[in-house]
Amino acid sequence: MKHSLKAKLSATILVIVLLTIAIISFLANFFINRQFTDYITKQQELKAQIITSSISQQYTKFTNQWNLDYVHAIGMFSLYEGYIVKVYDKDNVILWDAQSHDMKLCNQIMEDISNRMRIEYPQIEGEFTSTDYSLEQNGTTVGKISISYFGPFFLNENEFKFLHSLNTILFSIGFISLAVSVIVGHILAKRITHPILKTVEATKQIADGNYEVRLVEESNTMELDMLVGSINHLAVSLETLEKLRKQLTEDVAHELRTPITILQSYIEAMTEGIWEASPERLQSCYEEVIRIGKLVGDLESLAKLEGENLKLNKTHMDLYPVVVKTVDSFASEIENKKLEVTIKGSHLELMADQDRIKQVVVNLFSNAIKYSKDNCKISFEFFETKDSTGFFIKDNGVGIPKEELPYIFERFYRADKSRNRLTGGTGIGLTIVKSIVEAHGGRISVESNMNEGSKFTVTLPKE
Ligand code: ADP
Repeated sequence: MKHSLKAKLSATILVIVLLTIAIISFLANFFINRQFTDYITKQQELKAQIITSSISQQYTKFTNQWNLDYVHAIGMFSLYEGYIVKVYDKDNVILWDAQSHDMKLCNQIMEDISNRMRIEYPQIEGEFTSTDYSLEQNGTTVGKISISYFGPFFLNENEFKFLHSLNTILFSIGFISLAVSVIVGHILAKRITHPILKTVEATKQIADGNYEVRLVEESNTMELDMLVGSINHLAVSLETLEKLRKQLTEDVAHELRTPITILQSYIEAMTEGIWEASPERLQSCYEEVIRIGKLVGDLESLAKLEGENLKLNKTHMDLYPVVVKTVDSFASEIENKKLEVTIKGSHLELMADQDRIKQVVVNLFSNAIKYSKDNCKISFEFFETKDSTGFFIKDNGVGIPKEELPYIFERFYRADKSRNRLTGGTGIGLTIVKSIVEAHGGRISVESNMNEGSKFTVTLPKE
């Protein structure tokens, strides 16, 4: 069975307070009782001595007489205090005896004390015992006194009242602490769980696709603030991702629409006999199909690069032969446009994924060819610094408008759309280049001027 955090927190606080109260009460009771009974036992011995010495004072040596009125007064006073006194003279003759003086009162006092003590302290199993003390005056024995009281100790009514009120105070403190702990525990648990519940609500909404949700909950708990912060961060990331996903779907749809519309209208016209299916028209259809195929192929490579599966297989490689082979593979295009291609440098050591870096060179070089007019120049140049290596490809082709430079690495972005339809670009080539370079921990930058040409620089870290 699961319990709410609030219930658990309240219960924990309550258990802690209950335990604390129980321990404090037990220790307080134990120590107070022990100290108190020690004190009472000592007091009683002292009292017996005081009674003994007060009675001794009542003998007058010269007259050999006892002041019996005072002996009686002291005896009665002691009786009310719980001390049953018997006084003998030096010939062992009874002078005063509490029991024979007032048997009933004696019995009642003894019974009261015994009952009270048996109820309150059953464990001590006490009883009335009498002790004899000799009555002395200036070192001479003048008689004997027998004092009987409830041992090992007893409490009179006032002392019982004192102990009872002490217990009541302790109990009240315990009860008040308990009540306060219940209230404080409840408030505390509510303060902690409130932001958590709000966060749960928000995450549910996010899970339902409502990414605009933001938590404004402020708490004075660091961890809760961190939780709220990460939920908001998560919502922002999901919102961005969702926007990107929508944008991508729109872009793909947009990119596919043009060739498909062209294909559809051509084929319709030809099937309905409006147009004759001439080799030129079929060639146009074929080019559109190739265009769609290229777009799908580029998207596939991009998806692979952007997915988590982009694992680089880095090795020590020389970039020079890669560039030479790439230039060779474009021999017919170079020939057609009568381009002049130069490679400056004879080798460049790299720690990179050879196939991916080859794709970077191919994409950049094919762009340089695509966007160069006849008789233009394209050059490769390698460079090396203390902790990086790299190369640049420079052409003196059509160039890129300044205002479009920041966007050319974005997916589907093509500067001068009408021109690019003719060159057959999809706007994905540079996005792929950037992903590969960044996966290597490198950078790509571009400088370009309209009608003067472009220079793409790739910088890779040495290790
Ligand atoms: P595309 O398939 O259209 O070539 P890219 O992502 O490779 O897509 O390039 C994006 C855009 O950047 C191109 O459409 C083009 O306008 C511009 N561009 C890229 N390379 C060059 C270059 N060497 N010279 C001029 N423009 C270029």
